[in-house]
Amino acid sequence: MTASAQTAPKATTDTTLPPFAHSYAELPEQFYAEIPPTPVPEPYLLRLNQALIAELGLDADWLAGADGVAMLAGNRLPATAKPIAMAYAGHQFGNFVPSLGDGRAILLGEVIDRRGQRRDIQLKGAGRTPFSRSGDGRAALGPVLREYILGEAMHGLGIPTTRALGMVATGEAVFRERPEPGAILTRVAASHIRVGTFEYFARRGDRDAVRTLADYLIQRHYPELADSDAPYADLLAAVATRQGELIARWLLVGFIHGVMNTDNMALSGETIDYGPCAFMDAYDPNQVYSSIDHFGRYAYGQQPSIGLWNLTQLANCLLPLLDEDTEAAKTKARSALDAYGKAFEPAYYGGLRAKIGLMDDGTDAGADDELVTDLLGRMAQHRADFTNTFRLLADARPDDPSSLEPVRAGFTDPAAFDAWAVQWRERLARQPEPDAERQARMRALSPAYIPRNHRVQEVIDAATERGDLAPLEQLLAVVSRPYEDHPAQTEYRRPPREHEVVHQTFCGT
Ligand code: AMP
Ligand code: MG
Repeated sequence: MTASAQTAPKATTDTTLPPFAHSYAELPEQFYAEIPPTPVPEPYLLRLNQALIAELGLDADWLAGADGVAMLAGNRLPATAKPIAMAYAGHQFGNFVPSLGDGRAILLGEVIDRRGQRRDIQLKGAGRTPFSRSGDGRAALGPVLREYILGEAMHGLGIPTTRALGMVATGEAVFRERPEPGAILTRVAASHIRVGTFEYFARRGDRDAVRTLADYLIQRHYPELADSDAPYADLLAAVATRQGELIARWLLVGFIHGVMNTDNMALSGETIDYGPCAFMDAYDPNQVYSSIDHFGRYAYGQQPSIGLWNLTQLANCLLPLLDEDTEAAKTKARSALDAYGKAFEPAYYGGLRAKIGLMDDGTDAGADDELVTDLLGRMAQHRADFTNTFRLLADARPDDPSSLEPVRAGFTDPAAFDAWAVQWRERLARQPEPDAERQARMRALSPAYIPRNHRVQEVIDAATERGDLAPLEQLLAVVSRPYEDHPAQTEYRRPPREHEVVHQTFCGT
């Protein structure tokens, strides 16, 4: 499918950009549709991510200039770009949809970053594609801002994620519940291969494509498996390991992805597709923010089991590659999927133990797990803020009651915390470590700053209603360095007041 000459973006030839590479677009033709972005009337640069530009070795001045902005808007493309929309399927809330694909995202190509890593450069909201179905191919400013902020926050937390290179306003309204300003986000990802990409080919019975994709995935993200005797079983296990670790890390910072459909799980191990996602304030394992998640399928505490459910869909796709005999293939798949729990359990429980300052001495992990589980139970019952409880605990010294005051004050019944703190103090007494060292370890695991929903909403409202980007800058400044104290910005640590609570988040699609 090609656009007419009138709507196709012009090519820019004279650029200081490195040429785009196209390893994905060199795969067989059923993997994607070639489609240029649809130009927009009045592109206006909202923000460039200078740190990421430097990481990619791109020219910041060129990107900020007319040709750069025109590229980010999809109005002009460098001659080396080869715009494609990737094909994929997916289980959405458990229901299989055989053809989803990039309905509003267009991959321009890949660049090799300063560390030699291949990164996809994709425009999200760049116009209709053959996969758009009834969608307009566009993105509204609100969700673009959310994705930008959440990606930077996740990166600041040290958790693998796609990130935004920049965002532009389009000068065009998009119609959701009401007209909203349109915007395009330039997404940088290790790749955009999803569980749903495998599902797309597997459901069509295209075994060659499944194998080609698996080989590509190994080459791009798991090169250590290239010489394996059982590369596809090992691939499944390696993907499962990365997902187990990733989801453990989400839980440890209170992140709720919100729409963990199989098309939103990247096989690189990065967090991808920030839709109705949110960091929770008060700890509640049943917390859901997404307006479309009516049954809590993707609630905070469901994420580990959904991760495995999604990987099981991947395993189903890979079965024919694992063994000619179906039963033998299933046995191999099951044993590969064991890697998920093996990665998740120690990452999660080990992480929790470390968040309350415990060092593994190899003797009493069971009792230590009970200690953290007990704390979480009390936090849930007494509406304690997830982020602040752990951060303030890091700042406390168990033998100094006044230092515990800020933590206990966060519980609706502070006595519930006091009872726990007695056990905590006893347990820490067994650890001959100076307070300062333990505190430093704890602070490095428990951020002071997360992009709280009411703050994200404030940014979106200011930008959408008044064109004011100052709140965005302020929020980014703290969440991109979330483990630091930022003494002048402590207001950003405050949980929402009653009237500020955001109860629902929206996909914005
Ligand atoms: P998401 O909810 O963003 O993960 O998207 C799910 C599917 O819907 C993907 O195939 C998207 O490409 C597609 N989609 C979402 N929003 C739009 C839109 N505005 N126009 C076209 N397709 C869309
Ligand atoms: Mg998606």
